[in-house]
Amino acid sequence: MNLQAFWSRLTLVGEYVLDSPLRIGTGGDGVALDHEKQPMIPASSFRGALRAYVESTLRGLSVAGQETRRTINLRGPDGRPTPTQRIVKLCCDSVDKRDDDLNYQGCLTGAIVSRWEADPVLRPQLDAALIDCTCQVCRLFGTPWLAGRVRLADLRIVNGSAAAGLVSRGGLSISRDTDTALEGSQYQRQAVPAGTRFSFHLILENATPAEQGMILVGLRAFQAGLIGLGADRSRGLGRGHLVIDWWQCRYVDADQLLGALLVGTDPQVFTEDEAELRINALADLLRTP
Ligand SMILES: [Zn+2]
Repeated sequence: MNLQAFWSRLTLVGEYVLDSPLRIGTGGDGVALDHEKQPMIPASSFRGALRAYVESTLRGLSVAGQETRRTINLRGPDGRPTPTQRIVKLCCDSVDKRDDDLNYQGCLTGAIVSRWEADPVLRPQLDAALIDCTCQVCRLFGTPWLAGRVRLADLRIVNGSAAAGLVSRGGLSISRDTDTALEGSQYQRQAVPAGTRFSFHLILENATPAEQGMILVGLRAFQAGLIGLGADRSRGLGRGHLVIDWWQCRYVDADQLLGALLVGTDPQVFTEDEAELRINALADLLRTP
C-alpha cells in the first residue's frame, strides 16, 4: 500500500440553524451547556443522529452482493485452529443489535470481540480480524474495539446568534437568564429558541471517496432539515438545518500536503462539486456487487 496516498483529511465547516426550539441535554430535562454556560449541541448527539441516518439509508440501499465473507481461525474444541465463517455487511444496526449476541452476523458485537480476545489461536491475527469483520459504517464511526475516523466538535453557539436566551416550553414565562431559568418549576422545560445558530466542524480522516460519500449523504439530509435533534421531536421541537460553508471546507491528502510544504500552496478548497463526486463514488460502490 502506498502510505502517502492513504493519508487524507476532509474538513467540513458550517452552521446548524434551529428552525424550532431545541431541547437537548445529557439526560432528563434541560439544555446542555458549555463551560461558558452557553447552550450547545453535544457532538455525540449530532454524530449519533448522523450515524443512524447513514445506517438506515445504506440498509435501505444495500443489496445481497454487498456482503463479504471472511474466514478466520478460532480455537476448536480439540484445541486446533478451526475455520469459522463470518459475514460482513456494509452496515449493521448499531442501535438495535445486542452487544451480548454471540451469533450476530454482518458486524461484530462486544460479546464476540471478548471471545476473540481470549482466543489463543486468533490472537496473532486479532487486530486484522477485528477490522475485517466490522461493518464499514462501524469502521467509519468507530466502535468500542475500533477507533473511528469521524471527528466532530461540540456545536457551540455562534456569537450573537442566541439573541433570545432560553425559552421555556409548556409554561408561561420566558427567561433570559440561563442560570436561574425556570428553577423550581416541574412543568416548564428549557429550550434553545429557533433562529439560534451553532458552529459545525467535522473532520474525516483517511476515508475512501465512498466513505466520504457516506458522511456527505448524511449531511445532505441535515442540510435538507430531514433530521431532528434532541427531545420532544414529535411535538415539533428540534428541527433545524445545516448550512455548509463550502469556502471553508478543505480536502488534503499526502500528495497535496507535500506540495503545500514544498511550494507553499494552500490546502485544496473542497467544493460542492467535489462533494457530488464523493457521493457518486458511494453510488458506484453500491452498484458494484
Ligand atoms: Zn457495524
